[in-house]
Amino acid sequence: MSKSLQAIRGMNDILPEQTPVWRYFEGTVSRLLDNYGYKQIRMPIVEFTELFKRSIGEVTDIVEKEMYTFDDRNGDSLTLRPEGTAACVRAVLEHGITGGGQVQKLWYIGPMFRHERPQKGRYRQFHQIGLEVFNLDGPDIDAELIIMTWRLWGELGIRDAVKLELNSLGTSESRGRYREALVEYLSAHHDKLDEDSQRRLKSNPLRVLDTKNADTQAVLVDAPKMADYLDEESRAHFEGLKSRLDAVGIPYVLNPKLVRGLDYYSKTVFEWVTDKLGAQGTVCAGGRYDGLVEQMGGKPTPGVGFAMGIERLVLMLETLEQIPQELARQVDVYLCAFGEEAELAGLALAERVRDQLPNLRLQVNAGAGSFKSQFKKADKSGALYALILGDDEMAQQVVGFKPLRGQGEQQSIAWDALAAHLATCVVQG
Ligand code: ATP
Ligand code: MG
Repeated sequence: MSKSLQAIRGMNDILPEQTPVWRYFEGTVSRLLDNYGYKQIRMPIVEFTELFKRSIGEVTDIVEKEMYTFDDRNGDSLTLRPEGTAACVRAVLEHGITGGGQVQKLWYIGPMFRHERPQKGRYRQFHQIGLEVFNLDGPDIDAELIIMTWRLWGELGIRDAVKLELNSLGTSESRGRYREALVEYLSAHHDKLDEDSQRRLKSNPLRVLDTKNADTQAVLVDAPKMADYLDEESRAHFEGLKSRLDAVGIPYVLNPKLVRGLDYYSKTVFEWVTDKLGAQGTVCAGGRYDGLVEQMGGKPTPGVGFAMGIERLVLMLETLEQIPQELARQVDVYLCAFGEEAELAGLALAERVRDQLPNLRLQVNAGAGSFKSQFKKADKSGALYALILGDDEMAQQVVGFKPLRGQGEQQSIAWDALAAHLATCVVQG
């Protein structure tokens, strides 16, 4: 195949054999979100570049080197969204739906784009389910987000493989005081820092805590700790969150180095991490961003949210073999018809059955074919039963009902009784 006809590196097709797992995952999450009272919002995939610069922050990895940015035909600089929070905040402000303190509990799903080095669990087009809550400032809602994800891991059968890491970045005042202390300490050890950290020390010093460099990590051992700089408000908020997680019995690990990649976080930050996926171990990450809405031109509005990476969670389900067995089967019943008259009768019969059993997965053979070839297709479809309409069945107004997975003999069922019979033998999801 010539190169121009290939997909872009790091941007994947999700093939028909994979989509059942995606739909299972997405269905499970969206049902849970409905049950906890969250409403879906859908934003465009492209926004003005300025939106991301202003919200995510100019000196973050995303804005510095990961964005897909281009000029459109008007000369406007546009960017494929690298994450969902910025657009969600833009949307609620534009439509005034958080005004006057209105609470919004919103979620979204869709592709995100970052120009990173593609590897297992890290792609250039990837998918997130994200959630944002506006106008609730207490730790109770931070706890709800975490409790809900905990339930999700339980439903998906991956709870034992994930761990919650938690930190508080404090209010902007306490973070400011901490930043000063950290800069003072790190500046005194400037020579021992790696190059990236030296640069971050000037632009975004908290990110130094996030370093993977062993020498810098050694310097950080004796660095000032955020926890010692939390003001009373931040401390109470963090305690409130922890006591709620304790009440529900959700274990967590305090990680004072957890600062998250984006500029806008305050108070609570958290990550759900796993050791089952190699280096790309964070499956869900989020936190509170009480200053963001104001920074983007709105009235002061508390906010908190998270996003989870669908690719990584689908990989987890596969790695831990937690894909429900029933997903393997896509067809319940396969109808074979032999001859033109039988084919017409079969079509009408199939529609009658579908009227009565809207959840039945009934596939009607297409492309005619011999007895043998239609049976082969019926078997390959994975169906539990074949329905057979040949000359004999037509004459008697019945349909042959043949178990394909070795449960019993073929029987004849009257057309009128077919739906009722199927209802008793096919378990419908
Ligand atoms: P990482 O540290 O792995 O780069 P991040 O902090 O950049 O993650 P967020 O911006 O918090 O990620 O996005 C939330 C979630 O989206 C991540 O926890 C991860 O599951 C997923 N995610 C982020 N970037 C990618 C990517 N390039 N490919 C696949 N999933 C991703
Ligand atoms: Mg990243």
